[in-house]
Amino acid sequence: MAAPVSRTGARVERLPLARFTTLGVGGESEVWFVSDHAQLAEAMEQPYRILGGGSNLVIADEGVPERVIRLSGPLAERDLEPDPHLSTEGEIVTGWVGGGVPLPGLIRQLQKLGLSNLEGTVGIPAQVGGAVWMNAGTRYGEMFDGLHTIEIVTPQETRQVTPADLQWGYRDSGIPRNHVVSRVRLRLRPSTPEAVLEKMDFADNARKGQPKMKTPGCAFKNPGGVSAGRLIDEAGLKGTRAGNALIAPEHANFIVNLGGATAADVHALLDAIRARVPVPMELEYELWPERLPGLHSPGSQTTDPHQPDAHRDGPAT
Ligand SMILES: Cc1cc2nc3c(=O)[nH]c(=O)nc-3n(C[C@H](O)[C@H](O)[C@H](O)COP(=O)(O)OP(=O)(O)OC[C@H]3O[C@@H](n4cnc5c(N)ncnc54)[C@H](O)[C@@H]3O)c2cc1C
Repeated sequence: MAAPVSRTGARVERLPLARFTTLGVGGESEVWFVSDHAQLAEAMEQPYRILGGGSNLVIADEGVPERVIRLSGPLAERDLEPDPHLSTEGEIVTGWVGGGVPLPGLIRQLQKLGLSNLEGTVGIPAQVGGAVWMNAGTRYGEMFDGLHTIEIVTPQETRQVTPADLQWGYRDSGIPRNHVVSRVRLRLRPSTPEAVLEKMDFADNARKGQPKMKTPGCAFKNPGGVSAGRLIDEAGLKGTRAGNALIAPEHANFIVNLGGATAADVHALLDAIRARVPVPMELEYELWPERLPGLHSPGSQTTDPHQPDAHRDGPAT
């Protein structure tokens, strides 16, 4: 049976959000697949959340009460042709790239075309809109290195801004929450595929020690320049398990889903880290819905990796 559509033609379905997140956790919610500005405006008539690549989220097992908006169709397509009016000899400005475009595929395509400026973001499993919204990046480069125009949609208006109009900075675009990054034009420098690939290899190599399992990335920000992973490791928590979630043995600042983990499992590990690490640490990823720090996680308990009966090597049966 075809999924119901809204007044303006958006596809609306109740779906488990787990399938849209890199952690693979999150209960059912109403998802609006919007493919143009009219559909986006309609979706924004009621309380909403905007979901990108789901690579920085821990979503509750009950889902969220708001509409969850996903950019699709033309808002997830890319036009990388240089705009003849905006491009110069040393700089290419592309056509529109939808906020719903997966960033990894875009970065691979730019490398093949020999276009530079964004290769430092290789390996970030985001969508373009989400990556722009938080100026995702690595020590080798960030999204704002390659942006010309950003289209922002709010319930009141659609406007186009340049980076100079925003107070952007480290992992921050200056764009308020729930303002939707619907499309961007990229600002790129002509190079060669080989030179772009070489830079991508540097950024890729820096990820060698990260776990390969389902995860929302780093759990905590480094407090005062100290490695959060080291603090968690020193607290003896590497390998601690709650249900089917695990503090990764490869890198203690990553919580991974062994298969079938719940949000409650992940919260139990976050609580264990907060209780055992003596330094206050700020969470890196977002919780949907937001949750008060230190709240007890019902329904999941941690297993100390140093106890003989601890399970460290695989999913519970
Ligand atoms: C394995 C792994 C490695 C990672 N490495 C890095 C890294 O090196 N550097 C780094 O910076 N991050 C990294 N991350 C974290 C994550 O990829 C970034 O935070 C990314 O910016 C999240 O983008 P997303 O599209 O997945 O957004 P989501 O996780 O879907 O959402 C995160 C926030 O962005 C908002 N958002 C999403 N789309 C839009 C949009 N179109 N308009 C406005 N707001 C939007 C959401 O509402 C939410 O508030 C990593 C994550 C993983 C899982």
